[in-house]
Formats: sequence, C-alpha cells, structure tokens
Amino acid sequence: MSLASGWLAAPAARSVRLGYALPDFGCLADRRDPQSGTAWAPEEPSRQLVSGRPILSRAKMDLVLSIADYYFFTPYIYPATWPEDNIFRQAITLLIVTNLGAFILYFFFATLSYYFVYDHLLMKHPQFLKNQVSREITHSVQSMPWMSIPTVLLFLLEVRGYSRLYDGIGEFPYGWFQLVASVLSFLFFTDMLIYWIHRGLHHKLVYKRLHKPHHIWKIPTPFASHAFHPLDGFLQSLPYHIYPFIFPLHKVVYLSLYILVNIWTISIHDGDFRVPQLLKPFINGSAHHTDHHMLFDYNYGQYFTLWDRIGGSFRNPSSFEGNGPLNYVKKMAEEKHNSHGGNGYKNEKLFNGECTKTE
Ligand SMILES: [Zn+2]
Ligand SMILES: [Zn+2]
Repeated sequence: MSLASGWLAAPAARSVRLGYALPDFGCLADRRDPQSGTAWAPEEPSRQLVSGRPILSRAKMDLVLSIADYYFFTPYIYPATWPEDNIFRQAITLLIVTNLGAFILYFFFATLSYYFVYDHLLMKHPQFLKNQVSREITHSVQSMPWMSIPTVLLFLLEVRGYSRLYDGIGEFPYGWFQLVASVLSFLFFTDMLIYWIHRGLHHKLVYKRLHKPHHIWKIPTPFASHAFHPLDGFLQSLPYHIYPFIFPLHKVVYLSLYILVNIWTISIHDGDFRVPQLLKPFINGSAHHTDHHMLFDYNYGQYFTLWDRIGGSFRNPSSFEGNGPLNYVKKMAEEKHNSHGGNGYKNEKLFNGECTKTE
C-alpha cells in the first residue's frame, strides 16, 4: 500500500477504533471506506448532557492533537500498533506540537513586530544593552522548551477530558451568548490572576531567582516577550490553563485566546507607546509595560489597567507625559546636534530627573 492510499484509507478505520470524531473538512468529504467502498462520514461528537452540563468526554482528542495525528503522526510517524489515545504517545505529540507552535508564534509575530512596529530609535537609549536582540532571542529559545514541559502536562489533562473544554455550541443552553460571555470572563479572570502572580514574582523572596531575568531588558524589544526564566513564564501562563478546569470553554475559543495572549505579550514589548485616546484609561499597553521594565513597582497588568488601579500600582506611563524612553532618545539626539557632540544627560537620570532602579 502506498503512503498516499494508506493516508486516505486509515482515518475511517481509526475513527471506528477510537470512537471519536475526526475533524471534518470539505477536502475529506469524498473519502471511501476501503472495505465497503462507501463514502465515509465522520461521526457526530457526543452531545450528552447531565443536568445541562456536558459530561467529561475521556480520551476525546483535543482539536490540535487530532488534526496533527490525522494528517501527520498516524500516517507517517508512529507505528500503526500504537493507539492514538495512548498517554505517552499523546504526551510526545503534544510536546512536539506545543514547541513547534510556540516557536512559530514567537518568531513570526515578534519578527513582524520588530520590523514593522518597533521603533528602532529606542535602540539608541543608554539602557539598551549590547547585543540585546540576540540575547533576548537566545534567552527565549532556551526557555521555551522547558516552559513547555509543565504546560504539556496540563494540555494532557485537558486532552484526556479532565477539563471543562467542549466542542459543540449546542452543548450549552445559552449557546452563542455563553460563548461570547466566556471570552469576556476568560480575559477578566486571566488578567486578574496574572496581575497577582506577576506582583508575587516581584516579592524579594523569589524576584532574583525567577523574575529578574525578564527585567534585564529595561528597554525591551518584541523578542523579550518570551525571554523569561522557564518557571516564571509557566507561572504567568497558569491562569490560562486554570480557567478551563473551572469554567466551560469552547475549544476553538480556548485555542484562539491562547494564540491571542501570545500576540498580546509580544505587543506590550513592541515599543509602540500609542493607545487610542478612548481606550487610554483601560488598556495596559507597551507604554505601561515598558515603564514596568524600567521602574519595577508599577503597571504589573497584562491587558487592562484595572488591577493596577485596584492594587495601587497604576502609574500613568511616562510616554503619555512626554518623559518616556523615546522622548529621551530624541532629546538626547537634539542635544547632541545642538552642542555638536556630547550630551548633557546622565544615564541614570532618565525620567524627568527620577532615577531608574538597577534591580
Ligand atoms: Zn515584572
Ligand atoms: Zn515584559
């Protein structure tokens, strides 16, 4: 049997063996069962409800895992004798897929942001480190595989049905309304927990060991977005994983929001300090987070300024007041131009006369 015909014939048999529905895409619609020659129709996912709450569907494959198995791992990589719902096989596949996804997301969006959004003038700031971009990339590349290990353990629990992730809008009485509400509650829940976890990471007992590596970059670039100590990075992503174990969440919403938070993390390191006027009081953007990198005790938030305001750590970004790092670089260049060399600024006095901390 050729690889191609094996690929075409295998899914129906696998679907029957495992009792779960494989993804149904238009391009697969005319597949034939190898024995009967009849067209293969994917099974409907289970829609069982117990008191309006979906039962945990054990061994039901996660979206990404089932697609990866379906198109790649089952036909080309693993021996046919290794069942798709074997826990070790799932762990290995998730480890590969998670790392691949993280690296693609990081390099694709951070590179786009670095070339099209990030203001390269910031690299002239006195606190911009030598070879900083390559150091940020090296740090991220070394950390991400370690971060993925505890992450994959949680994904494994989700994939094996221990979370409240679901895959049918019709599984809940309020359908689409519940789906939209879950997006808002996910953002609120994760924003709240990240604030407190991040603030906790600044406690003197753990700061130096765990969080300081992320504060090496006082003037971060988009490539600093994933440059964490692995445990720090994992702890700050924990709220995203906790949510679907407590509240029901659609798998596609979960995956989309997981991708979105990674892009958001890149965006708050992108050196674009503008925020639409209307959203300025609410959104925690790059201006807020760059001040956090420089001043430490302010603006711990992720998406919103809400918890910084409640926790008393909000500070109006220096960039909004004309004293930001970009203003400093511009003033420095102006000064240099006027005095024909040599600037009147001292490196440690960057913020309107306020000293930045060194740790
Ligand atoms: Zn911090
Ligand atoms: Zn940061």
